[in-house]
Amino acid sequence: MKILVVNCGSSSLKYQLVDMNGEQVLAKGLVERIGLDGSLLVHEKGDEDKVKLPNEIPNHKIAIGLVIDTLVDPNLGVLSDIKEIEAVGHRVVHAGEEFAGSVLITDAVMNALNKCIELAPLHNPPNIMGIEACAEVLPGVKQVGVFDTAFHQTMPKKSFLYGLPYEAYENHSVRRYGFHGTSHKYVAQEAAKMLGKDIADLKIITCHLGNGASVAAIDGGISVDTSMGFTPLEGLVMGTRCGDIDPAIIPFIMNKEGLDINGVNDYLNKKSGVLGISGVSSDFRDIENAAGQGNERAQLALDIFAQRVKKYIGAYAAVLGGVDAVVFTAGLGENSPETRETVLADFEFLGIEIDTAKNKVRGKATNFSKDGSKVQALVIPTNEELMIARDTQSIVK
Ligand code: AMP
Repeated sequence: MKILVVNCGSSSLKYQLVDMNGEQVLAKGLVERIGLDGSLLVHEKGDEDKVKLPNEIPNHKIAIGLVIDTLVDPNLGVLSDIKEIEAVGHRVVHAGEEFAGSVLITDAVMNALNKCIELAPLHNPPNIMGIEACAEVLPGVKQVGVFDTAFHQTMPKKSFLYGLPYEAYENHSVRRYGFHGTSHKYVAQEAAKMLGKDIADLKIITCHLGNGASVAAIDGGISVDTSMGFTPLEGLVMGTRCGDIDPAIIPFIMNKEGLDINGVNDYLNKKSGVLGISGVSSDFRDIENAAGQGNERAQLALDIFAQRVKKYIGAYAAVLGGVDAVVFTAGLGENSPETRETVLADFEFLGIEIDTAKNKVRGKATNFSKDGSKVQALVIPTNEELMIARDTQSIVK
């Protein structure tokens, strides 16, 4: 079965065509600057070099049409007929409390996703546009929605409710939802495979550390707590997002800096995090370089980031009543041995002992615990597209 995986942003569209026979990526690419000047498709067939195809791409429907044309192109393509695409799997950011798993897209599902727009005003509209575009360009092909929030719908009320009036939840759906669910679920499943254990018997803490970052507590394959909340702003200190702060800072800083609602949203989402602390960059590579050259604020940003991850690991070990494995994934989690070492330092009391030589890996699935360590420390590259393709296959079958 060949499945097209689609991830739509407001002006971008990422795609992968996966042959589920062997879970092989046949082609992948990115449409950039949709609706803007200079739009283009960057396409990669198998292991061949990327090709850049500039084109006028005013909207997502034209973008999907172009992707399909490229996939069946005699030179660039990998399909002889569009009919070979048996299903499309879409990444959708927010499903509120509507869905606790991936679902076949129907009119009722579309209504539910439209209802969730107010919870994710920047993300859900382009996701919905992508689904509508595929329905037009690939009529009759089954589509599946895979939601970032779904995996965390198993959280109990004691994890997902805030200390706010209960009516905020009842009347306005204010609660913790959690994000990166597809990634947390994927790496937890892969961790169980790597350890040769049934996931039902494992307590796992997954650390998705990228530009956006979150930690999840997974008990027997089920998410019981996670660090992101009502929006992806809560929890860890991130590239440009502040993570947990005292909410009283918001009116205080609005007053001091003369910020309105949009201004303070920008301040917390785009100007804070390791960018705001270091004053160097939101990219951890730049910050690690600057810290290496003696920049104290860059070092401080790395220390604050690691301290917050450490706190969540300790908290989630308590929530889970123990831990069998800690998993690192995403850009930084997969590629920064320094971050992993700092985060897991001094955790021997919890049974986490790492082997610093084994930890010197980038982007490769590895168990970097010391032989005999009670808790396993793992690097597992995430693969949200494959998880979306797997869910899509199991639903359309
Ligand atoms: P993601 O959002 O998962 O794409 O992760 C992006 C983040 O991972 C950026 O801040 C990158 O700087 C960071 N990253 C990627 N590769 C490396 C690396 N080799 N060393 C340190 N950080 C990295």
